[in-house]
Amino acid sequence: MSHHADLDAIFRNNRQWAHFMRDQDEDFFPRLERQQTPEYLWIGCSDSRVSANEIMGLLPGEVFVHRNVANVVVHTDFNCLSVLQYAVDILKVRHIIVTGHYGCGGVRAALENRSFGLIDNWLRTIKDIYHRFEDVFTHLDAEQSVRLLCELNVQQQVANVCHTTIVQDAWKRGQTLSVHGLIYSLSDGILRDLQVNVHNMEEIPKIYQMYSDRDLLRRSLQGHAHIL
Ligand SMILES: [Zn+2]
Repeated sequence: MSHHADLDAIFRNNRQWAHFMRDQDEDFFPRLERQQTPEYLWIGCSDSRVSANEIMGLLPGEVFVHRNVANVVVHTDFNCLSVLQYAVDILKVRHIIVTGHYGCGGVRAALENRSFGLIDNWLRTIKDIYHRFEDVFTHLDAEQSVRLLCELNVQQQVANVCHTTIVQDAWKRGQTLSVHGLIYSLSDGILRDLQVNVHNMEEIPKIYQMYSDRDLLRRSLQGHAHIL
């Protein structure tokens, strides 16, 4: 069976890359094989122009990656939650980085009324963000709207990550873990910090904070002690 010519190019590139990496550092592959100890979990868009390792200048093994269309974190998505749980509980990453990108096709589609099929359901949560800030969007032109919605989407997904039981449980047991929101521009390749950095439970709105009965009792007893 012969490969399609395009796949041949991939195999050729791969062998060149593997040789190059081994020439640079003969322990590269043995080390990669022995362990992965990434400090970062990257949640980004599936867009082929956005590659986690390349953008951050990190090697394989240095970043754990989850990607989907428009970098969305939905609390019933067991794929995303499983990546999150494994990264936090087992790999013990110290940073979760949600990275959006300007001009995101998913965000752009969410701003339209054209149906793309099944994916409309996936993008619905981005429409919810637009709907919440609709009064702001009415003053913007189409490109400004895409830009703002890309940013707001990242902020919302950072919040969604923080609201998961996985991240909250890590904070409750004293694990060092922070969640960040960045955005990448395809026009200049620069990552920008959206200044949404969350480091502990107290930084999320109270309604989303989850405690066990025992925690709640302890907190209420502490409250009474304070009053007395
Ligand atoms: Zn995208």
